[in-house]
Amino acid sequence: MLRHYKVWGKVKRTGLKTRHYFFMISYQAARRIICEQLGKVGAGAAGVEEVSLDEAAGRVLARDVTADRDYPPFARSARDGYAVRAAEAIEGAALTCLGEIKAGDAPPALGGGAICLQIMTGAAVPGGADAVVMIEHTERAGDVVRFTRGAVAGQNVIPQGSEATSGQIVLSAGMRVGYAELAQAAQVGAAVLRCARRPRVAILSTGDEIVPFAETPGAFQIRNSNAVSLAAQVRAAGGEPEMLGHAVDREAELRERIAAGLREDILVLSGGVSMGKYDLVEDVLRSMGAEFFFDAVAIRPGKPAVFAVCQGKPVFGLPGNPVSTMVTFELFVAPAIDLRSGAVARALPFVEVVLAEDLQEKPGMTHFLPARVEWEEASADSAGSASGFGRVRALKWQGSGDIGAMVQANCYLVVAAELSHVAAGSRVPILLRGEVV
Ligand code: AMP
Ligand code: MG
Repeated sequence: MLRHYKVWGKVKRTGLKTRHYFFMISYQAARRIICEQLGKVGAGAAGVEEVSLDEAAGRVLARDVTADRDYPPFARSARDGYAVRAAEAIEGAALTCLGEIKAGDAPPALGGGAICLQIMTGAAVPGGADAVVMIEHTERAGDVVRFTRGAVAGQNVIPQGSEATSGQIVLSAGMRVGYAELAQAAQVGAAVLRCARRPRVAILSTGDEIVPFAETPGAFQIRNSNAVSLAAQVRAAGGEPEMLGHAVDREAELRERIAAGLREDILVLSGGVSMGKYDLVEDVLRSMGAEFFFDAVAIRPGKPAVFAVCQGKPVFGLPGNPVSTMVTFELFVAPAIDLRSGAVARALPFVEVVLAEDLQEKPGMTHFLPARVEWEEASADSAGSASGFGRVRALKWQGSGDIGAMVQANCYLVVAAELSHVAAGSRVPILLRGEVV
């Protein structure tokens, strides 16, 4: 068995014909490496398929969508009111209303001479009219409409083609389909979208002590919680989890399960990547031809995180402690799922908020602490207020095995590597969690 010694800032391996030295790298550098390697092993390589619009939420487009006609398709009224010639509808003027145009009607032309037409929101503005006056700015007696405010040419008229012209790209390949994108596709009649297949992410837990969550563990065993949390994170990130169960800490079994995992698009392992005698994941991967890019990241929790490419597939060895597994997934696996889908790697959603309580941490690592941010919704109208909109506090926890702390948490409080003390009232970054939908 290989031994490896992890020393401050550096990992040194012995027992190999060639010696491998790994330096502990920053999480930013680790993310850059992942993006670079995912580009090489084939970003967007998961394949494409046709997806009906009502199934397409969360997918990544593999082909542009173009406008089938101008949008709006005709000059559209933005208000309920009167279609007028602005030059005539001056303040105090009275015009005769000759009829009405409902949404969906073909509009008559507005003929000459002190006349107007009543018009509804979404209806086509008639030729000859150049403005719509809101009904609130008029008084009506019979067919006579008096204008309490003068019209300005162009007001409340959305010109034909001003949102998109026929043939214009309205959704681009690589975009992730959210509710706005769904609406856009529906508007232009793209009933079926060509999308990237969801990357299949194999999830393999390791550890002699692990039993499936539906089983009763022995006195010194624990239930597998990582597989199910990882599966939810995979789905939230746009991937399709492939559950490979768990492997005991034996080389032969690990090799067999890893081989199965390498048939999928991405392999994510949990556990077995630290310094223990039975942490065999790296050794087994190496024996299967893996090229390692890092195996220690200057973060807490999550330091022993491993990234390799094995037989052309990206492989993540996440530390087994549940909070470490969750954090390292957000930092490292989520962007890989984006890239495999042909999307750009999502940026980490950092938000600056106010620290509610003093904080003391060991410097040298970037901390991602389970934390709870309370949002002050009432202050949303006072943009730029010195107090900010969120106040965050780090939760008491027993370290990276403390799932309960993550249940209380709704974000990670990020403490930069060089800081040892942060005073209450300071502005601090939090990392928002990838939400499960
Ligand atoms: P390891 O990374 O294998 O050294 O595991 C670190 C800690 O995480 C140990 O306390 C393990 O029991 C725990 N652990 C490992 N895998 C899992 C899992 N799948 N679910 C819950 N806890 C785990
Ligand atoms: Mg283990």
